[in-house]
Amino acid sequence: MPVRRFDTLVVGAGGAGLRAALELSRAEASTAVLSKVFPTRSHTVAAQGGINAALGNVREDRWIWHMYDTIKGSDYLADQDAVEYMCRAARRLVVELEHEGVPFSRTEEGFIYQRPFGGQSRSFGGDQAARTCAAADRTGHAILHTLYQQNVRAGTYFFDEYLALDLIRDDDGHVLGAVAMALATGELLVIQAKATLIATGGAGRIYRTSTNAHINTGDGMGLVQRAGLPLEDMEFFQFHPTGIAGYGMLITEGARGEGGYLVNAEGERFMERYAPNAKDLASRDVVSRAMVTEVREGRGCGPDGDHVLLRMNHLGEKLISERLPGIRESAKRFAKVDPVTEPLPVFPTSHYTMGGIPTNRFGEVVVGPDGADHDQVVPGLYAIGECACVSVHGANRLGGNSLLDIVVFGRAAGNRIQDFLARNRYHRPLPESAAEATRARLAELEAPPGSDSGGESPGRLRRELQNLMEAHFGVFREPEAMAEGIQRLEELGERIRAMDMGDRGAVFNTARVEALELQNMYHVGLAAAHSARGRTESRGAHLRRDYPSRDDTNWLQHSLYYLTDNRMAYKPVRMQPMTIEAFPPKERVY
Ligand code: FAD
Repeated sequence: MPVRRFDTLVVGAGGAGLRAALELSRAEASTAVLSKVFPTRSHTVAAQGGINAALGNVREDRWIWHMYDTIKGSDYLADQDAVEYMCRAARRLVVELEHEGVPFSRTEEGFIYQRPFGGQSRSFGGDQAARTCAAADRTGHAILHTLYQQNVRAGTYFFDEYLALDLIRDDDGHVLGAVAMALATGELLVIQAKATLIATGGAGRIYRTSTNAHINTGDGMGLVQRAGLPLEDMEFFQFHPTGIAGYGMLITEGARGEGGYLVNAEGERFMERYAPNAKDLASRDVVSRAMVTEVREGRGCGPDGDHVLLRMNHLGEKLISERLPGIRESAKRFAKVDPVTEPLPVFPTSHYTMGGIPTNRFGEVVVGPDGADHDQVVPGLYAIGECACVSVHGANRLGGNSLLDIVVFGRAAGNRIQDFLARNRYHRPLPESAAEATRARLAELEAPPGSDSGGESPGRLRRELQNLMEAHFGVFREPEAMAEGIQRLEELGERIRAMDMGDRGAVFNTARVEALELQNMYHVGLAAAHSARGRTESRGAHLRRDYPSRDDTNWLQHSLYYLTDNRMAYKPVRMQPMTIEAFPPKERVY
């Protein structure tokens, strides 16, 4: 099997991977970025509304207010040292993006334009802040293309359309790179590296209705689980309030930030009842829950009463065309509605994976649990972006904080890896068995040519997994439904183990890739299900009918799920910020 050697292997070419790679390539470390799609098709490209930083260009703002909002938004589950680090760094990182070439929208005075987003306040819960720096409603597109161009210039090496399959670890636990497959040919390749960084994005596709692209299958999380490491806080999946009903395409929170609002079948602006101050700009968990409650209580819109409406027509054509052109296009294409003249049918849709690979604020993957040293790092392994849990989003992410997360921790990991490379100048030897497990996994999937093993197709099993996750582990979680969901997952697991692609693997490798992605999705689904059943409280995006309240006495804890034996372990939330007083938990009202 061919082997390629680099100082660092970055798996994932979204904003997180590219920001880290840029730091490394500019420091003249040989850096390979591997991506299963062409880099500028990574999902960061879809981010619409913007990136948070307390620049104060539209209204006075401070990083510490941003920090307070982030911790409150997280329902006090975020690690406060990491949040301080992120909010302090935000201003510098956004200005740096502008200097790299991101074409931000402008205020009349020529400053970076900032719009109000959900969960933002001034003076620790006071009036609405305007903190989200926007390039119209295509901010992710602007950031991703800029970072890609800068990487090309800095000499980063790209493996485009390669799928990472498994990490390589030696007997001492060091991570030495990954086994990958060229999508065009199916050929396997070992990429050997002193440091390996996972930046594979979220796993929103484990749910049926999602704002996520089909590539968001949680591969990095699967890789890490197969290497014997846990996933953190996987019960916390964000459901974005405004997906286009029935389709799931995102209508950015910026639509409400610019003045849009939600109404029920009675024409009532119902968020005034649930969040009297912030109303439609309460945090996402609060708005999603309110929408589902309206529908469940019979005040939903449409012939089936299964959605609510987003009104924007009062904003006028000029504002919508200038600030929200992309969502007008999506609304017309998918809902056949022009928001300039008609309200848009919306319903919560799976959007963001708050949990992920446990890391510290330098992007190092950390191990625990069971009272062991939670700060012990896995040598040579790093993770950043949506696949990681650092944790700055806790139980609920604030809009605009993910694009910030990916650039802040992308840079931090890039710097940390440089220190690691300075201390580890030579590659460690690859074990003989480096690719054995991967080969065995692939062989299991292939039926001999012309034979029919009776296994089901990956596509059919994937749909079943997505429906199951939506029905049993959606916005509201009920004990009986979760127990049944776990049992059905076990049964589905048997069928996934028996799936085969027949000869279909040969057709551009599509069925083979789907099968490999499904294995990752299934493992992520198990992590979400067991973590949800284990947490006996309601917090942020995790809402249990049998435990409707937050329980700070017992649950200021991060969950850790291990694939082996479906084991759960827990570690305390880091309540101590870096330099300032902690924000103690209090009741969350908007
Ligand atoms: P991604 O951009 O998803 O990149 C993942 C990369 O990993 C890709 O290059 C992919 O090819 C690669 N990859 C995955 N698996 C493999 C594998 N097995 N082998 C090789 N490569 C692999 N956040 C905000 O802050 N503001 C917003 O306005 C905003 N809007 C959003 C709108 C939408 C529709 C969505 C879905 C999200 C939005 N978010 C927003 C969230 C934010 O965009 C994402 O969390 C963030 O961009 C994730 O970046 P990433 O680099 O971690 O992952």
